[in-house]
Amino acid sequence: MSKDYYQILGVDKKATKDEIKKAFRKKAHEHHPDKGNGNADKFKEINEAYQVLSNEQKRQQYDQYGSTGPFGYDGARANSGQGGMGGFNWQDMAGGQGAQGNINMDDLGDIFGGLGDIFGFGGRSNSRRGPQRGHDMESELTITFEESYSGVEKMIQLKKNIQCNHCHGNGAEPGAKIETCQTCKGSGQVRQVQNTMFGQMSSVIVCPDCHGEGKSYSQKCKDCRGSGVINDYDKIKVKVPAGISNGQSLKLSGKGEAGIKGGPVGDLYLNIFVKPSAKFKRDGHDLYTARTITLTQALLGDKVNVDIMEGKVKLKIPSGTESGKRFLIRGKGMPKLQGSGYGNLYVEVDIDIPSRLNRQQKKLIEELKKEGL
Ligand SMILES: [Zn+2]
Ligand SMILES: [Zn+2]
Repeated sequence: MSKDYYQILGVDKKATKDEIKKAFRKKAHEHHPDKGNGNADKFKEINEAYQVLSNEQKRQQYDQYGSTGPFGYDGARANSGQGGMGGFNWQDMAGGQGAQGNINMDDLGDIFGGLGDIFGFGGRSNSRRGPQRGHDMESELTITFEESYSGVEKMIQLKKNIQCNHCHGNGAEPGAKIETCQTCKGSGQVRQVQNTMFGQMSSVIVCPDCHGEGKSYSQKCKDCRGSGVINDYDKIKVKVPAGISNGQSLKLSGKGEAGIKGGPVGDLYLNIFVKPSAKFKRDGHDLYTARTITLTQALLGDKVNVDIMEGKVKLKIPSGTESGKRFLIRGKGMPKLQGSGYGNLYVEVDIDIPSRLNRQQKKLIEELKKEGL
């Protein structure tokens, strides 16, 4: 395989699992096909790289041989469900979903939605409806520059799958008779024999009748029609930490969609957009600002007030300061998200050259001219 998976994810060959996961999430967000500037091919490539590098065994194999084993690894083949073992487990394969799955863009959406249990292929497939982890969600929040400096708490409202209150998520109408599922005799699983490209395979799949619960109800919940979840608005309190920068995302664990049949709740990824400031430009933890001074302040020096994010500080302008000179004010930049402390503030001085002089000023400048200035 000639593809450099490390390069695709933009990580070092020695990257840790965590770094790889982080890089993947970032790239996947960037190139997600649902986005205006998304790119489906790139997105697939990123998935492919991640599937290999996130799996210790495959990664080792890839590092050693440049491929991942008997079938090689090929995103296209994996996506048509024939080759790479990447995201499929045997159950999926045998269950038929994965084996036939022509994964189209909608499915990619699903994959994206299932980032939490990375590549929950078939997560919404009809053949598996036992307890399922709720889908991860993605949303955005725009805050002001000042809020990004100080941190802020916001309430957001999202429409999503939440647990049905009427049945408390089990899908049965309260008072319904609960019986043992006849199909699986209560085990929640059935054995299935299938012909696959790997030959005949016997596998255990989730019972299609009770969806793994082992129980059947005489009456389904009328609110959620038995799914245990309803789609409704949910209010979520979000704590945005001080120092967050434009484009970063926050992971809110357990704030995604409700799981099905008692499955865990998904996560919410909140992309933060920070409105630009009229006064400050940000670069990393540092801030840049400009301060206009007069001609005489530049020539003679002075102490001037400079706006910082919170209040003002005094800045000493030495005599003979040129326009464009940059002064450093330590610790007055943005708070650091990780660790502690603040970045620095750089103040660029701009000398205000008057475009018009009154008579008195002109006279004095003429005097200066005589002095050789
Ligand atoms: Zn219900
Ligand atoms: Zn059953």
